Amino acid sequence: MNCEIIAVGSELLTPFRQDTNSLYVTDRLYELGVRVVFKTIVGDRKEHLVDAIHTGLRRVDILILTGGLGPTEDDLTRQAVATALKIALKRDPDLVAQLYARFAGRRIQMTSNNTRQGDRLENATILDNANGTAPGQWLDTIYGGHRKLVILLPGPPSELEPMFDQACMPLLEAALPVSFIARRTLKAAMIGESAADARIAPIYQKYGDVETTILAHTGDIQLNLLCAKKAMDLAQRRVDELAGKIEEELEDFIYSSQAETLEQIVLYYLGMRGATLAVAESCTGGLMSQRLTSIDGSSRSFLGGAIVYSNDLKTEFADVPRTLIDDYGAVSSEVAEAMADGIRERVGATFGCGITGVAGPGGGTEEKPVGLVYVAVSDGKHTDVLEKRFLGGRESIRQWAAQQALDMVRRRLM
Ligand code: ATP
Ligand code: MG
Repeated sequence: MNCEIIAVGSELLTPFRQDTNSLYVTDRLYELGVRVVFKTIVGDRKEHLVDAIHTGLRRVDILILTGGLGPTEDDLTRQAVATALKIALKRDPDLVAQLYARFAGRRIQMTSNNTRQGDRLENATILDNANGTAPGQWLDTIYGGHRKLVILLPGPPSELEPMFDQACMPLLEAALPVSFIARRTLKAAMIGESAADARIAPIYQKYGDVETTILAHTGDIQLNLLCAKKAMDLAQRRVDELAGKIEEELEDFIYSSQAETLEQIVLYYLGMRGATLAVAESCTGGLMSQRLTSIDGSSRSFLGGAIVYSNDLKTEFADVPRTLIDDYGAVSSEVAEAMADGIRERVGATFGCGITGVAGPGGGTEEKPVGLVYVAVSDGKHTDVLEKRFLGGRESIRQWAAQQALDMVRRRLM
């Protein structure tokens, strides 16, 4: 089934507030195999809202509205749904009584405009609001001859999220046709999104029943596979089959088939080998160490290292010979190698990694342009070194460099 989310609120059309409710709802719906195919943001104007509701009802099975359920004049969602569906909106005395009780419980005098939150759409199921006053509403209705679910949820995320989990999810599960959802997440490092897609599109296009989405972020690609079937084993088989073929095609670019992060995989391989790692970071300023240490238990394999930003510290903490820096420059394969080996020896690790580069935007020369990065990995006997030219701004170059370094360690361990 398809879904559209309409976020209601003029503030969401300004640069100051973002619609985050739809992200939460989309994530939860994904678990049920419901796809969000449209998102709309509408200001607090009834005719615009009615218009958006008609449009939504024409194109999806499930329409979810968030916001505009409060007590003020600009909260118009209930009225707009009533108008669009041509159904009655009636004040429900039980709901009003609950509102009074809720205010009384907090020793606050309820103002009369609050009673509007007791307006119930004809045949709507009320969704309790454990964290606020405006209840949600659930409508299982017919529009244009088709069954539609229309769900009204409050705007504040602290109210919407628990309501969605506690009241909406069970109703949705009961309302949706029985289906089982299998999913897999494959992850690949240091391959471009278009390069990856060019190789795997001919494969996943043959699996029309498996939804494949690609997310790319600075050298990291995530492939999400999802399949819904009448039986779990059917769904799982399709997803696994496609995952297997994609893994075969992308070979060692794939580092995970169960959604682990690159740093988790690196630590996993280090642990399996009983090996340890130390790093000397220059242009990344600790990004690689940050990623590794964000993983619980990383101390078993990651010893630490040094941020050796200045030339003096490269010599002092990673034993990079001064003459090497003078002869080749701080950003050079020779210095990267010396950093990797120096830090490895200094701390007694199995592997050492060195990263040096020009992150920009200043400091680039014709010979050493912005984005030039050297990464080296050493085990004392053999040192791998890579020269890369990363594009983008300073932050992007630093992220790419850290990703490259983690990937080099992974490949070394594989
Ligand atoms: P209230 O009873 O608080 O008025 P409401 O259902 O009328 O609830 P709104 O008035 O639309 O909701 O919004 C209340 C708060 O929730 C505002 O701070 C608003 O910025 C926030 N909010 C509304 N919609 C969203 C959204 N889609 N994503 C994130 N925050 C939202
Ligand atoms: Mg409001």
